[in-house]
Amino acid sequence: MPAKHCAGCRWAGGPCVIGRGNPQAPLALLGEAPGTVEIQRGVAFTGPSGQLLDDLLHRAVAAAGLCGKLSFSDFWITNCVCCDTRGQTPTLADCKLCWPRLSKELTGKYVIALGQVAQRNLRHHRWPLNRALFVWHPAYILRNPLAAGGWVMRVRDFLSTVHQELQGATK
Ligand code: SF4
Repeated sequence: MPAKHCAGCRWAGGPCVIGRGNPQAPLALLGEAPGTVEIQRGVAFTGPSGQLLDDLLHRAVAAAGLCGKLSFSDFWITNCVCCDTRGQTPTLADCKLCWPRLSKELTGKYVIALGQVAQRNLRHHRWPLNRALFVWHPAYILRNPLAAGGWVMRVRDFLSTVHQELQGATK
């Protein structure tokens, strides 16, 4: 959960946005920071990027042949920083200040990093590369729809691998 009374960074005191989905899920999608719609609703990825993300994820799950085997309850969707950045892109220094909160959310999960901020954050914190995938942020795909097909294929392959590993872990 976001640190309600956190004073960790320059955005302390503003609205804080929680993630979306199942906090106990084995998979996470990691974005950058909440946008305008998310701030209004108080939930991550509920604006236009979030709607596209849901659609892309649905397509990737279907392409992997995992409909009925992976659902939205298998995902936790969150951001590198969870407070209102007032339109500013978080720096690595900002992400480092919010890492204690985020690392608790991500512990034990496979993480799909959406965009460069998330990728840089995971790399800096030496997130195991066999538990991470780096893809475009959906906001980029909104502006460049031709990138959607590649996103779906890469996530499809990652989900297939993760699903096999999760199946193996339960045997
Ligand atoms: S973004 Fe993170 S570090 Fe900054 S005030 Fe909010 S919870 Fe604290």
